Amino acid sequence: MKFYQLTPDERRKLLVDQGHLTPADAALLAQTPMLAPDVAAHLIENQIGQFALPLGVVQDLVVNGQAVQVPLVTEEPSVVAAANNGARIAALNGGVTATAPLHRVIGEVVFDAPVDLDRAAATLRAHEPEIRVVAAAAHPSIVRRGGGLADIAVERLGDFLKLSLSIDPQAAMGANIVNTICEAVAHAAAAWLGQAPLVAILTNGGGAATVATVKLKSATLATKDQPGPAIAARIARLSALAQVDEDRAVTHNKGIMNGISAAVLATGNDGRAVAAGVHAFAATSGRYQPLATWRLAANGDLCGRIALPLQVGVVGGATGALPVAQAAMRLGGYRDVAALQTTLAALGLVQNLAALRALAGPGIQAGHMRLQANALAIAAGATGPEIAAVAAGLGAGQMSLARAQALLAAQRKDDES
Ligand code: NDP
Repeated sequence: MKFYQLTPDERRKLLVDQGHLTPADAALLAQTPMLAPDVAAHLIENQIGQFALPLGVVQDLVVNGQAVQVPLVTEEPSVVAAANNGARIAALNGGVTATAPLHRVIGEVVFDAPVDLDRAAATLRAHEPEIRVVAAAAHPSIVRRGGGLADIAVERLGDFLKLSLSIDPQAAMGANIVNTICEAVAHAAAAWLGQAPLVAILTNGGGAATVATVKLKSATLATKDQPGPAIAARIARLSALAQVDEDRAVTHNKGIMNGISAAVLATGNDGRAVAAGVHAFAATSGRYQPLATWRLAANGDLCGRIALPLQVGVVGGATGALPVAQAAMRLGGYRDVAALQTTLAALGLVQNLAALRALAGPGIQAGHMRLQANALAIAAGATGPEIAAVAAGLGAGQMSLARAQALLAAQRKDDES
């Protein structure tokens, strides 16, 4: 039986047997626990309930020679299936190669129209040693861990003066660490300039990109109806289209983020920070561009490349407060930030591959609607074995809520008689 045909219990057991999931984490996931009431009440303000989503797994996404089990939390039925499909094709070709950049988060301290901008800039530059002392005193623990302020830069932006602080947050995503350092430096700099800053906060942009590449033999891309080389050629053309058609590029990138957002959420990381950084990066040239591109090599291989900044951490934030996020971190084997970033980039690339292959071949709807049938059955009120029965009935005709309701009514009538 294939993994997706097993029950959730059987899937967890297999992952335990394969050594990917600890028995304790399997037990935790089996309980489908809600957060402890006091955790939920203290994690956000005005908490009035909890919101559950399914957690799935992409099996054996091969990244730099290692098979990674990638946990995903998503409400979209086709995301996990597509990612698995892309991961399977990549694995047939030796997997994805990925490199993470130096982990740095940039903070900005901006002064609004100092009277003498050049002099103020020179003052800030001259105070670099003091800035380093203030930054270290603001967050001594990150310095003890080997991180903290790495570089500074001063620049004029119109009549604003901006001090950029490039900070190494070690294993953390770094937003709070950077904000703490920014505010302390802003306070000191205000005294040197005789002026309060306009703003002191991290930016979710400006991060260097994680890059992942894959090289695919075109034969491995064949679909039921089309040979591999034809699919490879169409994928390359779809990629070229996304480079000139912003409407296509947006949806191309949305598909990439289907997997990445779900994997980020599973770890308790800040998905908004990742999304803001990624989309800003896609628009750096002034024209919104696809994050992943595909081209045909002279020998007919399809070469894919993705580059995107990924502002994530493996400690801190909500991760420590969410037991399932910690289990997800362990399942993914995210020992450090680079391991998480390279996995996310590889996931984005194979997710894009699966979407483009479907577009190049049978179209996106065949696979999507098959999976959507379950959601429609549930929305119609089906429970237990009714879900599969109604979904199967939907598969034989038009997919609509009205049909799902009719099929469910018929099913229940049959069961009664
Ligand atoms: P935290 O504030 O949780 O800081 C990191 C924590 O991890 C610290 O308590 C640190 O301990 C601990 N830690 C343990 N081991 C390590 C290690 N090896 N390296 C680094 N830290 C370690 O998280 P972040 O600063 O990462 O901030 C992330 C949070 O900020 C997210 O929840 C995000 O949503 C939020 N946020 C995001 C913003 C944005 O993106 N614009 C703005 C504001 C907040 P110690 O103190 O002992 O060093």
